[in-house]
Amino acid sequence: MVIKNLKSNLDEKNNEMIEEISRLSGGQISSLELIAVVYGFKPTMAEMINFNKFNKSFINKLDKINRLCKELSLHFVVSRYKFIINSPRGIFEMIDLDSPQKGKIAIGISKDKSAALEGVDLYYKKTLVSEKGRRFGQVMGYPECCLDFGDYLCQNSKGDKNHDPNNFGFTNPAVESLKRSKEFAWQLNVFTNSPLSYCPCTLNCQESIKYVNKLFKILKRINPTSEKNLMDILKEPISLYWTCVDKILLYGDFKGDFENSEVKYHKSVPKIKSRSFYQSNSSNFLNNLNDIYKKIQRGNRLVMAPAYFEIYKDKKRIIKIKKDNQYEPVLVKPNK
Ligand SMILES: [Zn+2]
Repeated sequence: MVIKNLKSNLDEKNNEMIEEISRLSGGQISSLELIAVVYGFKPTMAEMINFNKFNKSFINKLDKINRLCKELSLHFVVSRYKFIINSPRGIFEMIDLDSPQKGKIAIGISKDKSAALEGVDLYYKKTLVSEKGRRFGQVMGYPECCLDFGDYLCQNSKGDKNHDPNNFGFTNPAVESLKRSKEFAWQLNVFTNSPLSYCPCTLNCQESIKYVNKLFKILKRINPTSEKNLMDILKEPISLYWTCVDKILLYGDFKGDFENSEVKYHKSVPKIKSRSFYQSNSSNFLNNLNDIYKKIQRGNRLVMAPAYFEIYKDKKRIIKIKKDNQYEPVLVKPNK
């Protein structure tokens, strides 16, 4: 009994510190990933963090995060440069920390100091040299099958004649994963709010499901509210998905498959965030998405086909939108 109480006190303390680190980073350091590192089923995490100015208040926050990491027996490492990221993927410029331009810093967290350092170092190198991607994934502890999938994405992008060198080929890993999947497990819902920091090789990848199940087991113990919220967002909404930062969540009845489907919805929640995620964006793309969201708010049914999608209010069609690409957007919900 005494041992059990000690354990739950430790869980509580860990949870408080993890939440505080995430809060200090403005939510940019994922508390879910941090849990996996603290509880030892993920070796390292790395992230790019946005900030306004590299001033005293920001340095204070980094110091606080560093102290909390120490208390959790973790090493916290920060890059010596900041990075400007273009839309939609990849870094194209490295600048001094005190330069007036806006940028992101890379951070790494691990029980092993050299892994944290390597994570930071590889975070930007992997976008410039695709061979570094696999090593980065190994340091982060991603499953082998998913590292192979990452290699496939890189090779595929190089073989593409229309490959844009500024795009690094990672146009839409979630959709590539979807194309290879008949079964779509709720644990791997990369279309709403994935608890993974990589794209799984399929939406039924057993190694990735195991990881998420471990996370849920700990979360249930240390933060039941967060466990319930995460499960709800992975299981319930139907995602109208363009990219990992631009989607609209619909709640209601879904039927159909990845190609032809329909949803009767009673609630919609926009998650159109690429403006805050990237330093440069196409305003056309974003305006278009916001217009679509307004139409969705007026309707209650959406029909998806490979070449177009339609929004209805009961039987009356509000709009039919042609798609340039079958997979942009997709309408998806886990089927197991
Ligand atoms: Zn896999």
